[in-house]
Amino acid sequence: MPVIEFKKVEKYYGKFHALKNINLQVEKGEVVVVIGPSGSGKSTLIRTINGLEEIEEGQLLVNGYDLADKKTDLNQIRKDVGMVFQHFNLYDNKTVLENIMLAPKLVLKRNENENKETALKLLKSVGVSDKTASYPKQLSGGQKQRVAIARSLAMKPKALLFDEPTSALDPEMIDDVLNVMKEIAREGMTMVVVTHEMGFAREVADRVVFMDKGEILEDAHADEFFEAP
Ligand code: ADP
Ligand code: ADP
Repeated sequence: MPVIEFKKVEKYYGKFHALKNINLQVEKGEVVVVIGPSGSGKSTLIRTINGLEEIEEGQLLVNGYDLADKKTDLNQIRKDVGMVFQHFNLYDNKTVLENIMLAPKLVLKRNENENKETALKLLKSVGVSDKTASYPKQLSGGQKQRVAIARSLAMKPKALLFDEPTSALDPEMIDDVLNVMKEIAREGMTMVVVTHEMGFAREVADRVVFMDKGEILEDAHADEFFEAP
């Protein structure tokens, strides 16, 4: 069973048709990169996967739960599917360590010792061990994004969604974040990544999905996609 499966999904913002007949499957451990012009629906597409945007028609199965079904518990989906945003969305009034520990404590009821141990391990793996007691405003953009990634991983998600994770970063910080993402991919995480970083797509993606005007125009193996025509 795919981790994520869109079947004939339609999404409207009022009268605006934002997603048109979306059919897409993401298998366990796959990395799918979504590209396309600004306004083509990339962000909308991945936001539907954890219920940040509702769909109007079709079926969207995430870990077997149907997001088109109003009875589906979005909290369950969000526990299983993490999201990394362009603008980090960290809690500004909490330290780095507190940012990581909050959701596992509240949502998973993970005990304090285990929670802290997991958090510190993750902060080390993303290279910000020295910032555990800092507040987000004391970090660079690249550090903030690596903390945001660690925070998502702390929930031990079954899949991670990335919405232009490097678009708000200064150029010299982009590689640090992409390298962390590459490592997560290597470890087998199921990932859907909206990005303009074609080097990342070429190196890491299993498949590349090209969107335009709310439609998927191409869904190809990365090797095929990057092959000269
Ligand atoms: P992309 O991520 O490819 O830039 P988006 O998914 O952000 O595209 O947006 C797709 C289209 O939907 C755009 O035309 C955008 O203006 C429109 N849109 C996005 N969010 C909303 C919203 N909340 N209300 C109305 N229109 C929206
Ligand atoms: P991003 O850079 O993350 O794609 P956008 O600037 O496209 O952000 O959108 C920022 C917010 O505004 C989003 O929550 C999106 O849903 C909303 N939005 C985007 N386009 C429109 C629109 N045409 N009408 C109303 N809301 C919109």
